[in-house]
Amino acid sequence: EDEVVLVGRSNVGKTTLMREIVGKKYDVGSRPGVTLEPNRYEWNAEGFAVTDLPGFGFMSGVDEERREDIKDGIVGYLEDNADSILVAVHVIDASAFIEIADRWESRGEVPHDIDLHGFLVDIDVPVVVSANKTDKVDDRDATLDGIAERLGYPPPWKQWDDAIAPTCAKRGSTDALFGAIRTHLSSQGRDD
Ligand code: GDP
Repeated sequence: EDEVVLVGRSNVGKTTLMREIVGKKYDVGSRPGVTLEPNRYEWNAEGFAVTDLPGFGFMSGVDEERREDIKDGIVGYLEDNADSILVAVHVIDASAFIEIADRWESRGEVPHDIDLHGFLVDIDVPVVVSANKTDKVDDRDATLDGIAERLGYPPPWKQWDDAIAPTCAKRGSTDALFGAIRTHLSSQGRDD
């Protein structure tokens, strides 16, 4: 079945965003923030499914080995379902992304988010970055430019508005994201 997937590190606001997309019925589960299996919901308004993939990266109470298993599971799911994934929404915390990415890069490591984003591009899944928690960002354009640059989209970010969508899931600000998703759906003939 055709689907939109949500993927991102834990605590970026993926569950909050999922609730905005599928409505209040979305059950965050008994362990908020630690979604361990893909959760699939029908997006009735659009006629396809939305799948929330587990959050990855650091989570308190989850050990390194388990974190690696989660990441492998996400990569496997995306590879196996690449043909039926209409759009991947890559959710990031816009207020923390640059600092985390630069810290990892200064240690000579590839940040999780940059790794994941490159992987989605490599498997030809259309991807929209939901740059979330914009309410916590002071200089929005500078931050979005910095994020764009690190993900391989030369600034200014505004020329990539089908790939980078600022959101504030907590306040229900998702217009830019829905607009970007629609652009991808219509380019695949799914805008009926
Ligand atoms: P998940 O682990 O990615 O599913 O993240 P959650 O949806 O559980 O959100 C993690 C935390 O971030 C919660 O405290 C949310 O209320 C908060 N959060 C989500 N979206 C936003 C946002 O747009 N702005 C701010 N400031 N906080 C947010």
